[in-house]
Amino acid sequence: MRLSRYFLPILRENPKEAEIVSHRLMLRAGMIRQEAAGIYSWLPLGLKVLQKVAEIVREEMNRAGAIELLMPTLQLADLWRETGRYEAYGPEMLRIKDRHEREMLYGPTNEDMITAIFRSYVRSYRELPKILYHIQWKFRDEQRPRFGVMRGREFLMKDAYSFDVDEAAARLAYNRMFVSYLRIFARMGLRVIPMRAETGPIGGDQSHEFIILAETGESAVYCDAGVLNLPIPDETIDYDGDLAPIVKQWTSLYAATEDVHDAERFARETTEGQRIETRGIEVGQVFFFGDKYSKPMNANITGPDGVERPFQGGSYGVGVSRLVGALIEANHDEAGIIWPASVAPFKVGIANLKVGDAATDAACEKLLAALEAAGVDVLYDDSADRPGAKFAKLDLIGLPYQAIVGPKGLAEGRIEIKTRASGERVELSLDEAIKRLIAS
Ligand code: ATP
Ligand code: MG
Repeated sequence: MRLSRYFLPILRENPKEAEIVSHRLMLRAGMIRQEAAGIYSWLPLGLKVLQKVAEIVREEMNRAGAIELLMPTLQLADLWRETGRYEAYGPEMLRIKDRHEREMLYGPTNEDMITAIFRSYVRSYRELPKILYHIQWKFRDEQRPRFGVMRGREFLMKDAYSFDVDEAAARLAYNRMFVSYLRIFARMGLRVIPMRAETGPIGGDQSHEFIILAETGESAVYCDAGVLNLPIPDETIDYDGDLAPIVKQWTSLYAATEDVHDAERFARETTEGQRIETRGIEVGQVFFFGDKYSKPMNANITGPDGVERPFQGGSYGVGVSRLVGALIEANHDEAGIIWPASVAPFKVGIANLKVGDAATDAACEKLLAALEAAGVDVLYDDSADRPGAKFAKLDLIGLPYQAIVGPKGLAEGRIEIKTRASGERVELSLDEAIKRLIAS
């Protein structure tokens, strides 16, 4: 992609409304534009990252045996009346009337609708277990939308729902989602800690929040430093096998959010020097809620004994759009964003230091063509900006590699490759550079 044909509206000034670094960098790097409080347009660079994050979530959901569908953003109020949640939800729910004065709402979550879908089609335990999920926009009229996409009003969520015949089977689904969450966040290069959590308006009796430790996080969190070094299951993990030992290992050490924190237990179960008390960003949450929705909605199945009963359920959310902000909170320096390779909008940025110089233009064109032919996502800065401005731009948008091409180096047959994360620079011939950038 040539920058001259792309749409990358970079801001020179620091936006005053941004309180935290990720919000500031997303605005400056031309990733998002605020359209109303907590409502954003995703500009091309931001959308690329959002899509990469969503794709990792999708791949890992599929690997864990969850099945993707898509439910609408708008829902009927009557559906939510069946569970009593239409009245219970409060001002966070955006309530809308259509032209026939029918009461509707913009979905803040989908337990009620997925239960209605299940109820229409599934009758017997023989069709279970099932985990269904979608990746869809939600709306919650948050009292204080802030921190950019981290606490938006309209935001993208992956929400999965499990259906089982009894509690023992539902625990297996919970474990599947728990383990798949460990993998999702690790693939984005994030250290995320599952912590015991309150269940909130979604309800239920067991829940973990998946938390990134960060000073800018909204909730206070407490954990044993040992959780930072636990192993992440690799992609050969057998989701039909016994996952309980992995979940046990990850939940044996103390880790709790402030809502359920027990200071005495924390002191007893952890040792001096191993206690972490900090703040955290919630990027996902898993709930087991039993028959909370199936019972009031009469979503019954027959069990092996021929008796009808409500299914046992759970729900499992990931904040896909929040993750884009959280990733920047975890990966930046004074100069800008430092994208982990798996979610970077482009892998390589090419800086042409002298546009109009025949040899430099030709080398950049060759590099661009070779990388694109090899399927590498590459952004070529072919603008008339001065070198300093191009370096600042590439540092700001945080692509993993920068290929710096200028007449001086080319006269000696070399171009420079800079690794954004380490700052390391190497000089290579154009052909070596192409090979290196494709392979790395
Ligand atoms: P919070 O406590 O941050 O308000 P929640 O517990 O109400 O979030 P869940 O219902 O668990 O949210 O939603 C699943 C995930 O969606 C959360 O873990 C979070 O990552 C994301 N999320 C929730 N609210 C927002 C929001 N206002 N903006 C962006 N992402 C959000
Ligand atoms: Mg939550």
